[in-house]
Amino acid sequence: MTKPAAYDDNNIFAKILRGEIPSHRIYEDQHTVAFMDVMPQAPGHVLVVPKAPSRNILDADPATLAHAITVVQKVAKALEEVFDADGVFIAQFNEPAAGQTVFHLHFHVIPRHEGVALKPHSGKMEDGAVLAANAEKIRAALARSSS
Ligand code: AMP
Repeated sequence: MTKPAAYDDNNIFAKILRGEIPSHRIYEDQHTVAFMDVMPQAPGHVLVVPKAPSRNILDADPATLAHAITVVQKVAKALEEVFDADGVFIAQFNEPAAGQTVFHLHFHVIPRHEGVALKPHSGKMEDGAVLAANAEKIRAALARSSS
């Protein structure tokens, strides 16, 4: 494999983490943020994004990964409840050859239903009001689960 490019601080998720561009946030802690994917592959598609800068899993600190997967689990459980999902798909891509398009480590967390195909990756932009409504429901489920 050719050596990947260095982490670029101007990638879109770094800008979201710095609050320079908006997102529909559903969760934040000291190390991690989670927000709605704007081109969801299914309703409720969330991205879990560690705050520490790394391109992907290949250059990430293991402690960052360890914490992030606990947030992925929390979000997966909330999505299962909110969307009455039959299953939850977790995906994570490393470098363009594997389908990565945004070069800041992130995990896709996507509710799945029997017999319903996933929409294409980075496909169609969802309506902002739909994303906002889904985000609100997920935040409420996370608040219930932590109380
Ligand atoms: P990946 O190919 O794993 O790097 O996926 C990047 C994901 O980021 C895709 O699913 C896109 O739909 C999503 N995405 C791109 N721009 C934004 C944005 N501004 N806010 C939220 N999600 C985004």
